[in-house]
Amino acid sequence: MAKSMCRAVGALVLAIAFLFPSAISVGAQADRGIAGFAPVRVEAELAREQKLRAIPDAAHAESNLRHITSEPHLAGTEGSHRLAEWLRDQYRSYGFDAEIVSYSVWLPQAREVKLELKTPNTITLGTPEQPIEIDKDTYNKDAVMAFNAYAPSADVTAPVIYVNYGTQEDYRALEAMGISVEGKIAIARYGRCYRGIKTKLAEEHKAVGLVLYSDPQDDGYSAGDAFPRGPWRPMSGIQRGSVQYTQIYPGDPLTPGVGSTANAKRLAPADAKNLPRIPTMPINAQDATAILENLGGPHVPHSWQGALPFTYHIGPGDAVAHMKLVMDYQQRPIYDVIAKLHGTNDGEWVVLGNHHDAWVYGAVDPGSGTATMLETARALGELVRSGWKPQRTILMCEWDGEEPGLIGSTEWVEANRAELQAKAVAYINTDVAVAGPNFTASATPSLSGLVRDAARAVQGPHSAGSVYDAWLEHAKRGQTELSGIARTQGGSEKMGEAPVDALGAGSDFCPFLDFAGIPSIDTGFVGDYGVYHSLYDDFYWMKTFGDPTFAYHATLAKVLGTVALRLDEADVLPFDYAVYAAAITRATNDVISRANQLGIQDATTQAVADASARLTASAAHVAQALQRSGYASFDAATENRINHELVSVEQALLAPGGLVGRPWYKHTIYAPGSYAGYAAEVLPGVNEALDRDDAATFQQEAAALAAALSRASVRLDEVAQLANASK
Ligand SMILES: [Zn+2]
Repeated sequence: MAKSMCRAVGALVLAIAFLFPSAISVGAQADRGIAGFAPVRVEAELAREQKLRAIPDAAHAESNLRHITSEPHLAGTEGSHRLAEWLRDQYRSYGFDAEIVSYSVWLPQAREVKLELKTPNTITLGTPEQPIEIDKDTYNKDAVMAFNAYAPSADVTAPVIYVNYGTQEDYRALEAMGISVEGKIAIARYGRCYRGIKTKLAEEHKAVGLVLYSDPQDDGYSAGDAFPRGPWRPMSGIQRGSVQYTQIYPGDPLTPGVGSTANAKRLAPADAKNLPRIPTMPINAQDATAILENLGGPHVPHSWQGALPFTYHIGPGDAVAHMKLVMDYQQRPIYDVIAKLHGTNDGEWVVLGNHHDAWVYGAVDPGSGTATMLETARALGELVRSGWKPQRTILMCEWDGEEPGLIGSTEWVEANRAELQAKAVAYINTDVAVAGPNFTASATPSLSGLVRDAARAVQGPHSAGSVYDAWLEHAKRGQTELSGIARTQGGSEKMGEAPVDALGAGSDFCPFLDFAGIPSIDTGFVGDYGVYHSLYDDFYWMKTFGDPTFAYHATLAKVLGTVALRLDEADVLPFDYAVYAAAITRATNDVISRANQLGIQDATTQAVADASARLTASAAHVAQALQRSGYASFDAATENRINHELVSVEQALLAPGGLVGRPWYKHTIYAPGSYAGYAAEVLPGVNEALDRDDAATFQQEAAALAAALSRASVRLDEVAQLANASK
């Protein structure tokens, strides 16, 4: 789905002294050890990793992507089913035990999407994307018309109001200007936040419809040369996408919290809380020009002016728009592919995943991730052929129905929650995996060190240094914020390290982390990418702009393989809870001072402060105990128990009843924002209560948070005790 859209915002540089030199040359790690490995096993692990990293290959990745993008494969169509079967067969050919798991879900297809402007002359809009001669794939008649998944059927006619990005802030500005969208059709540009949030806000402000368009300022000619001359969005390019209210819950709208199995109890569509009630449609900049040029009313505030060549007005003026949507909603099958490489210990799983369904061809989103995962799988399969047996079982999952609303992953996680919580040690996602040369990673803080270590172990494709070196270099040049985390006792996170972000919303890690409490990672290479969710996100784009040599695909396959091997083979799982506790403490300090400013200073804020201090102490004890043990002195049963407890810390952070108002979201530390961004909302329950000035909910959420932190401390204390007892 979407992680590249926050690109423009993060150009903040922290002036941080680089206390620790980063240069640890590839392969010189043996004397340093590997987090979680007994010293006697380090050498064998490094040899195994080296063998694995020699296998992924650019030519293979390219031919994978050529196949994956050979036809459009929207969820719920035969193209998607065919791709799932091919993927299953590929995994089988690498030695995996692979099968298709199908769910029947409530899924729309578009029959008619119509937009007209009456000025009073009628202008017909809704123009499709233009084929481009040099790129023959753009002529395919099977490319789906542009629509927003989960928009309802509707037929509305109303004057139009421009709402900038359609964020909460934008509506506040409109209110200050005395302008309302009630009874009007709103037109919003893409960017700043998830389109389902834009739709929810338009609905709450009583608009009767919403038109979404791509302004060239955001991902078109203002950013750089437009396709086919460059990688940015051409005037005719349209960003399709879901408007499902995944911020309330993702997945099949009719089965929140349970898998969409044959016997599942299904809601009536009218009762589904994640379905928008107003029509929306996506259009290109060309069509937006016709609408925006014809708006009357006041000039827009300076920051609302986009890059189209005229002065924007807010509206309404004389122009009236007519939107007609005919959607065909039905129970439709989706096809997940679940491939297993069985380990000695089938009771512990390392899970990797990406979706396979695409809006059209999806070369970047999601094909680059799938092409890469296949190379990782091939490498793991070759290790098995040469005599290795994984310690833990490795699952590689290809989800269907991600684009309409994270459906394939959500249904599978919901259907298998108990087993996953008992067995899965981590989930590694790689959506929008290769769109350029810049490595990026988000993760639960406990896993940030593992991601950095893996990036240090892999040679960069075009430089002498490692992936990590280039990542840090890029961060230093000010493209992204460096990690500002002070060194914590026993923790590995240092000032000036390459940044690992919090996990936000927008891809398949969401059900794993937010619903099931499985520690998660999302990673890939980003870059100049303006064809997101358009017809032009195809093989030609990738071959010409994204990764012409496919070197970044091969490199990412090595990073994923290294992460998977370390999780698979570690004696003690390499989870750094000192880093996690430090991140939580920073967040609780922030929220407590916010609450104090609002006049809330009582037993609940004190309970949060106490619980977070206790968590920090417990995490430090674990770090000390494990360090002392050298990971070497545990018998198999103790090791199992320690690992089980370490994994369960993340689950302890779930609130059984979920967040107030959106009980599907159970994680007390991370959730997608209800109204803000694609970024993670940290401490979502308490922070959103403060946003709403809702003291009663704040108390309730603060109590749930303190309880969750205390549960996590109990788990960590158990680990420390086990580790100390077996000295
Ligand atoms: Zn995606």
